[in-house]
Amino acid sequence: MAEGYSRETDVHVHAEESALGKLSADDTRLPTATIYSSLEPCTIRKSRPNSCTELILRSGIRRVVFAWREPDLLVQGCRGAETLAEAGISVLEYGDMATSVQEINGHLLA
Ligand SMILES: [Zn+2]
Repeated sequence: MAEGYSRETDVHVHAEESALGKLSADDTRLPTATIYSSLEPCTIRKSRPNSCTELILRSGIRRVVFAWREPDLLVQGCRGAETLAEAGISVLEYGDMATSVQEINGHLLA
């Protein structure tokens, strides 16, 4: 349906935000769609009014797959997985892939 990556259109845009921004809010496929993100959707944004978790909830998507929990060094206290699950979203965390995601995002840890 759509792809996105962090900093795709500006230095502050997140991957989920970028991908969702390419879809119409009334796209009838959204309620049956799955969003795949290498990193846990954020719950705190300094540069935007809405977190990626809020955008996902607003989109109507009911299934989220990610690999790497948001590390505290980027934004402290991320609760993306918990917030989505509490809202009834199916959340699948592939923690065994987190190391691979960390490797390709090494610049975030530097
Ligand atoms: Zn985000």
